Amino acid sequence: MPIHLLPEEVASQIAAGEVVERPASVVKELIENALDAHARQIVVRVENVGRRAIEVADDGDGIPQSELALAVMRHATSKLQTAEDLFRIATLGFRGEALASIASVSHFSLVSRPAHQSVAARIRVDGGKIGTVEVVGAPVGTLVRVEDLFFNVPARLKFLKRDQTERQQIDALVTRYALAYPQVRFQLFHDGTPIFQTTGNGNQREVLAQLYDVEISRQMLEVEYEDEMVSVSGFTSPVGLTRSNRKEITFFVNGRWVQDTALSTALLQAYHTLLMVGRYPMAILFINLHPEEVDVNVHPTKAEVRFRNPDRVFSAVSRAVRRALMTSNPVPSVVPPSVWQRPLSTPQIDPAWEMSHQAQNLWTTFEQTGETTVSPTPENLPRGTQSPLPSGVLPLLRLVGQVAMAYLVAEGPDGLYLIDQHAAHERVLFERFIQKKGEGIPAQTLLEPTLVHLSPSQARLLEDNVDTLNRLGFHIEPFGPFTFRVSAIPALLSGADPVQAVRAVVEDFEEDETPLQSEVEARLIARICKRTAVKAGQVLSPEEQRALLRDLEACQSPRTCPHGRPTMIHLSADLLERQFGRKGAR
Ligand code: ADP
Ligand code: MG
Repeated sequence: MPIHLLPEEVASQIAAGEVVERPASVVKELIENALDAHARQIVVRVENVGRRAIEVADDGDGIPQSELALAVMRHATSKLQTAEDLFRIATLGFRGEALASIASVSHFSLVSRPAHQSVAARIRVDGGKIGTVEVVGAPVGTLVRVEDLFFNVPARLKFLKRDQTERQQIDALVTRYALAYPQVRFQLFHDGTPIFQTTGNGNQREVLAQLYDVEISRQMLEVEYEDEMVSVSGFTSPVGLTRSNRKEITFFVNGRWVQDTALSTALLQAYHTLLMVGRYPMAILFINLHPEEVDVNVHPTKAEVRFRNPDRVFSAVSRAVRRALMTSNPVPSVVPPSVWQRPLSTPQIDPAWEMSHQAQNLWTTFEQTGETTVSPTPENLPRGTQSPLPSGVLPLLRLVGQVAMAYLVAEGPDGLYLIDQHAAHERVLFERFIQKKGEGIPAQTLLEPTLVHLSPSQARLLEDNVDTLNRLGFHIEPFGPFTFRVSAIPALLSGADPVQAVRAVVEDFEEDETPLQSEVEARLIARICKRTAVKAGQVLSPEEQRALLRDLEACQSPRTCPHGRPTMIHLSADLLERQFGRKGAR
């Protein structure tokens, strides 16, 4: 094929692909435009997770009728004059391509009215074809409606993730911007239902409470830091409040949401040694510095920035967060409270049940409920092998003790076993669940139901999976916006804080983008077990250690956790002899 210039339509679709990846990108660009136009109120309406329509209305500056056609053309912007301006950008937009891009891959309309016009004007663009401008009646501000996104690029549609994921992205975007701009009133609707809104009264903690819940918002520590070059403000979680992923770590740089792993690393550094492996803080931090200190023109969707003095910025973030942590929590605890410990706010458990179990801890409770299985005789087991581990049942083991608050040491007829207490407990819980599943998993009714408050996207996830959870012994029902009432938890988890148990499950849903429907239940069980099993770092009493060993011996597949990782390492007598030079090559 000879070299040829691409037709305008193809070229613009290619360009659009850079900016508009998914419905959430449209929401982002339109919100940024509204903020640049000094809006005090932004209403986002989404239909069918943005596939059908996305509408963003604002009460900002508006666009004069004479400039409407320009606004939807590529490289048309009111925010930049010269190339030098690129290095001191104070607005969120500057490339003048968002509207053009969006309009080239949708049925697009824009109605706008600046304060000096008595009427508004509307322009329509269909798959990049600009229509005529009509005069219409509308309040001051701008309303953009984007219908049938990607109708003319079906390949793009195929790349969209399932609805839940697309929706989560939209919700995350709107809620984060609402936090960053607390003086702006945000409203988000999905298919006509209000999902989230803020008052615009400037109180960031109030927005936090909207986003999480009052309790979390109360616990979040305020970050305030300033040096000659950079200021860092916002909120970060105390060491006791963590998540299993980084999704609740958000950075805004000069009012722009950026994804920057180096910034996250700087934040995590501040928590160094304070959090357990695999746990992450929640944080929303606003970094402000002179526009000349940061290059925002390095990424197609402007999601990344480049700092002129990255090290100064990173160390400011670390210092700011560390300071917040230290003033609030001078003696941080390395070991977070386990779900097995009675939480401070005691879950209301039936007193009769409580009494009958009073002197016993959970481990002995398990012993009572656990099936007794005949352990294999030592003769069944291959002698002197180290690995691979035989897949079957375990020999009878004699407990030696616990090391490093994470492993049990045991002796078997064929050598030494190092057992990962967390993985082992996961396996035990998992098999209990599966066993009980046939008979119906017994639920433990809480004396008084408790409420769980979730973020809009978490609430959505829980809603989607609530039936499955209820089949597994939970009893959860919607109770107001983003709030659920928990009146029972699986009896196998009694003693766990119900709120924490539900949160743990929802968090894991968040991590998992595409579970197969057929597997949802088994995986859910595996997750619950993972999240409620004892953790590394937890000291177990000798009785607890022995109970765990016995429970593990009774398992059908004791040698792996439900996720397939080994629960134990076996050092055979033979191997030990070799290692000590008693046998083999000398
Ligand atoms: P950019 O934001 O990079 O300038 P856009 O394509 O997003 O490019 O928008 C083009 C221009 O249209 C903007 O520069 C601005 O002047 C105008 N505009 C877009 N959206 C709005 C809005 N909601 N309110 C006022 N003006 C807007
Ligand atoms: Mg823009």
